[in-house]
Amino acid sequence: MPDQYAVIGNPVAHSRSPLIHAAFARQTGQDMVYGRLLAPKGAFVATANAFRARGGRGLNVTLPFKGEAFHFATELSERARAAQAVNTLKFEGDAIIADNTDGVGLVNDLAGNLGCAIAGRRILLLGAGGAARGVIEHLLKQQPAQLVLANRSLEKAQRLAQSFRGAFEAGTYAALAGRQFDLVVNATSASLAGELPPLPPRVFARGALAYDMMYAKGETPFLAFARGEGAALLADGLGMLVEQAAESFFIWRGLRPDSAPVLKLLRQTQDA
Ligand code: NDP
Repeated sequence: MPDQYAVIGNPVAHSRSPLIHAAFARQTGQDMVYGRLLAPKGAFVATANAFRARGGRGLNVTLPFKGEAFHFATELSERARAAQAVNTLKFEGDAIIADNTDGVGLVNDLAGNLGCAIAGRRILLLGAGGAARGVIEHLLKQQPAQLVLANRSLEKAQRLAQSFRGAFEAGTYAALAGRQFDLVVNATSASLAGELPPLPPRVFARGALAYDMMYAKGETPFLAFARGEGAALLADGLGMLVEQAAESFFIWRGLRPDSAPVLKLLRQTQDA
């Protein structure tokens, strides 16, 4: 019987994680299967426990359960603690070991796949939800010249900055007027609704990279805006998705897959 893994969420039918982990398993010769687990809202714990009882070895957790998974865990990594959200669970006997690989996924995509150095750069992070929270610790570890976070709700941004003991500056979009950044990361869910965060003009410095965590077939409104504003490099979140999966795979199997061919495969199926 192969080892069993799955992605748990609601909805979950659209998830590309099964395709990614099947490719990693093929590449590294691992005897495992990876499926989708739809949990009714309010039944995350029951669904995850039923999967464990069937011998499940681990789960990836997606919306809207990343917070519930944090409370479900019996052991939290430092990354999960900082993010207060969990996207990877590993089941070992009675232990439920939890981690968050979104931050390392973003940084590995930026530094590895896109060749974008973070150290010494001016970074603007848009949004103050789970995705933003999950990557802050990792961005700060790379020692950027500055990290500024902008959010529609100022209170939410400030609360987030306080929980990181003021390690970055948090404000509104209006307060960005006249400022420029080398890397602008869209961690809002605006693109999901076909909307653009209310960015003032000229926030992209010469040579800037615009990164949208969302991935879609066409260009998102944020990337279209960045193109119009002269950003030098545009990237969507597909690379982050593959890199966070590679880190989950490492946590479960102790092996680091080669993410490059898998990212290429996903791009081909996305464009098809
Ligand atoms: P949340 O619901 O937790 O947070 C949403 C954030 O978006 C809030 O800060 C909200 O601002 C902001 N927002 C929503 N609409 C707008 C708008 N029109 N203009 C400006 N700000 C807006 O979502 P998550 O943080 O969990 O997810 C955010 C995105 O990141 C999603 O698109 C998700 O798919 C993506 N993601 C991608 C990953 C990857 O691997 N590529 C991994 C994880 C997430 P306010 O507080 O003011 O309402």
